[in-house]
Amino acid sequence: MNREYQRDYIDDYKQKGLRKQLVDSIRQKGITAENVLQAINNIPRHFFLDTAFESIAYEDRAFPIGEGQTISQPYTVAYQSQLLDIKPFEKVLEIGTGSAYQSCVLGELKANVYTIERQKKLFDLVKKFPFKARYPTLRFFYGDGYEGLPTYGPFDKILVTAAAPEIPEKLLQQLKTGGKMVIPVGEKEVQRMLRLTKISATEFDQEIFADFSFVPMLAGKNF
Ligand code: SAH
Repeated sequence: MNREYQRDYIDDYKQKGLRKQLVDSIRQKGITAENVLQAINNIPRHFFLDTAFESIAYEDRAFPIGEGQTISQPYTVAYQSQLLDIKPFEKVLEIGTGSAYQSCVLGELKANVYTIERQKKLFDLVKKFPFKARYPTLRFFYGDGYEGLPTYGPFDKILVTAAAPEIPEKLLQQLKTGGKMVIPVGEKEVQRMLRLTKISATEFDQEIFADFSFVPMLAGKNF
């Protein structure tokens, strides 16, 4: 994998044109949130991938990012971001930093992002990320997403970008009342996208959306 961030970062008319086509295709698939579409349009996705994938980085599909993990499909990133309905300056917890592409979408939406990754190698790569200056509202943590970040919570929004076998109780506790969590739930290859809204300390409203396929949310940290 050559995601070592030691290469030339070129984002010229060619990549920008491909990105516009990607945005059009995501729009056609049903994404309507203009701020989310704009965020996808602004972020050079090819920077987040192995150089081998540069020419196909704007296809609407997932790609490997090392350690058996993937960067989510742009449509999926847009879908989850739209469901979260991010407002500027909201405090957002993301589980599964991966390539940090989704984290940057949240950054474009001007959220204050706290993102956790359990794979040490992926976390270390992201620490060298060249656009850290462009997204000053992102904070990166190495840890187990099942624990959340109790000392930084509660959060306005929680986004889980790995498939959870069930809804993690500790994450629900770290949501503000009125806050929302978007999470793919299911143990098999296909999971159902859920949106939970915290109505009171103990009550949640649950909405069920489409089916997706994520890598699993695993317990504990991995070196
Ligand atoms: N949001 C990412 C998608 C990455 S795939 C992106 O845009 O690239 C899901 C990620 O979740 C993987 O990197 C995986 O290592 C991580 N993950 C799985 N279980 C986790 C857990 N319990 N805590 C934190 N990260 C986890």
